[in-house]
Amino acid sequence: MYEIPSLTADHKPEAIAVLTSGGDSPGMNPAIRGVVRAALHQGIKVFGINKGYSGLIIGDLEEMTSGSVTNIVQRGGTILKSDRCEAFKDSAVRHQAAEVLKEKGIDSLIVIGGDGSLTGAHLLSVENDIRVIGLPGTIDNDIYGTDDTIGFDTAVNTALDAIDKIRDTALSHESLFLVEVMGRNSGFIATHVGIACGAEMIVVPEYEVQVESICFQLANNRIQGKGSSGIIVVAEGQTPGLTYNLANQLKTHNQNAKVCILGHIQRGGSPTGHDRMLASCLGASAVDYLCAGYNDVMIGVRSGTICETPLQQVIEKNKQLDEMLFQRALLLHK
Ligand code: ADP
Repeated sequence: MYEIPSLTADHKPEAIAVLTSGGDSPGMNPAIRGVVRAALHQGIKVFGINKGYSGLIIGDLEEMTSGSVTNIVQRGGTILKSDRCEAFKDSAVRHQAAEVLKEKGIDSLIVIGGDGSLTGAHLLSVENDIRVIGLPGTIDNDIYGTDDTIGFDTAVNTALDAIDKIRDTALSHESLFLVEVMGRNSGFIATHVGIACGAEMIVVPEYEVQVESICFQLANNRIQGKGSSGIIVVAEGQTPGLTYNLANQLKTHNQNAKVCILGHIQRGGSPTGHDRMLASCLGASAVDYLCAGYNDVMIGVRSGTICETPLQQVIEKNKQLDEMLFQRALLLHK
């Protein structure tokens, strides 16, 4: 349940556009639906831009109706498609994008995406006369200013579903599995998945772990009669092949481990009920905030309340993994 602020619609935009950008995440569709339905409710025209900033630059957009977003709430991915657009890092290209919007009579844009997409949204807003609202759409949950991001819950559940199956094989063969989950810079997915799947250990970028301490933990488990099978959840980190390297290091300590990379399955699939709720509420709230005159902010959720954070802060500050949560995970391994 979310507490939704009651805002006064005294700065209604002429027309708004919505796009999805960067890595897709499950829940982008209910977020688009929330935007479209809330805008139409306010009597505001709403346009969908195809393929993120790439589509914006070339004016690939069309007006959306209530019917455009029928039967999408349960679908993974994004009906508007997503893209990575290097050119948008150039201010002249962003100016061109703003002109495209103005020519169509659009003065406001809602961007659903991760850190990079929100950076582009902020720059577009400060350099041009376009009002912008960002929504946190990423499975990584690594966005400052919000406790939760659209797609995180689904990704955690997808990984759990896979690991529960891997656990059956690990138990049958008394073997150790290193399961790599997404998270280049942050261990949010790994920590949540690790706690929820009852992992024997979690490896995240935030905390260095020595191979010797993993071996010690595994030996301890055997002494305590917990058997020699196990699951170690590893966040992918910045270095490609990190999990295979860890398996090789374990081997030098006579510890054989099989590697399973979950990869892109974590980004796909039907959004969970939690993500549908979050995305729907954030999508509709983005329109409320625009109508109340807000600009250059991200709408997220903190302590169950829908709230705004200046995009400048979202971009500059890093969301830290909760140390207490990680300590709790360590305690549960033992
Ligand atoms: P995500 O939004 O998932 O973090 P990316 O980091 O790949 O994904 O960013 C998505 C897109 O956002 C980029 O392809 C680019 O169009 C835009 N973007 C990213 N960083 C910037 C930046 N510094 N300035 C302007 N646009 C940016």
